[in-house]
Amino acid sequence: MGYIQPSMDRMVGAYPTCSICGSDQIQQEAFTKWSRARLEWELTSTLDVFFCEVCGLRGGPDWKLDEMFRRKRICRLNDELRRSPGENDMVVVTAGVQTLGPEVIADVSALVAAFEAFTGDNDPHAEHDFGAITLDGQKLFWKIDYFDRRLKTHSPDAANPDVTCRVLTIMLASEY
Ligand SMILES: [Zn+2]
Repeated sequence: MGYIQPSMDRMVGAYPTCSICGSDQIQQEAFTKWSRARLEWELTSTLDVFFCEVCGLRGGPDWKLDEMFRRKRICRLNDELRRSPGENDMVVVTAGVQTLGPEVIADVSALVAAFEAFTGDNDPHAEHDFGAITLDGQKLFWKIDYFDRRLKTHSPDAANPDVTCRVLTIMLASEY
C-alpha cells in the first residue's frame, strides 16, 4: 500500500549499461543551445535515445546499481542521523530507556553519536545501521530503519534522503 518503487534510473547509484554487450560507455542524445553570454553550447534537454559506444547498439539501456556507491551514501546518511538528525530524521527512545531518566538519556545519546566500533560482525553490510553500547553496566542497542516519508512502509530508496525518513531507535538490550 502506497509502495511506489522509483524506476531504476531514478535510484541513487544507477548507471546505464548496454543491453547487448554490457558496456557502460553509453551516450544519450540531447539538444544544446548556444549561450551568447557564456559563448558555449549549453545542454537544454535530453532525449530517450541511447547509443552504446562499444557495439553501436541504439536503444534503451539496462540500468544497474552501483552497490558500493549506495552503501557509502547510506553509511554517510546514517552517521549524520546519529550526530545531528535532519528534518526528515526521527530519534525514538524506547519505554525502557525512558525509565533511565533525562540525564542518563543524554549520556546515552552522546555515546550513540560518538559510536565508531563497527566490525564485520555488527556491521556486515557496512551501512553503520546498528551498534551496542554500555553505560554504567547497562547494555543498550541502537539501530536505524528506513521508512518512506509517510512512515507507512519501507523507504523506496534508502540512499535518497528526499524519499526516506530515517528512524534511529535507542533501546535496552533486554528490549531487543
Ligand atoms: Zn554495446
